[in-house]
Amino acid sequence: MSKSFDERTHVMERALCPICGYAPDRATRAMGKGNRPPQKDDISVCFGCGAVLQFNADLTLRSMNFMEFSKLTPYQRRLIGEAQRWIKEHPITRRETKH
Ligand SMILES: [Zn+2]
Repeated sequence: MSKSFDERTHVMERALCPICGYAPDRATRAMGKGNRPPQKDDISVCFGCGAVLQFNADLTLRSMNFMEFSKLTPYQRRLIGEAQRWIKEHPITRRETKH
């Protein structure tokens, strides 16, 4: 029990938001069973700006385009909306970013 965050959270080394430049240092799995690291095409919401992103195979991040967004399930959209609302209500301070 010495982990500093829960086991659904994975350390990120290469991810960078293509919209705002925020560099997340970890990713937490929000849906799906079990515990696995992020993988290609997993959806992510930027903690800095709330942009909807997707992982590339090398775990860098890219913007999700409209066609991809339109294929999301209502449940996925609701989770994304809740995450974006939370991010908006809890803005990160400059000190928490790596810039
Ligand atoms: Zn961002």
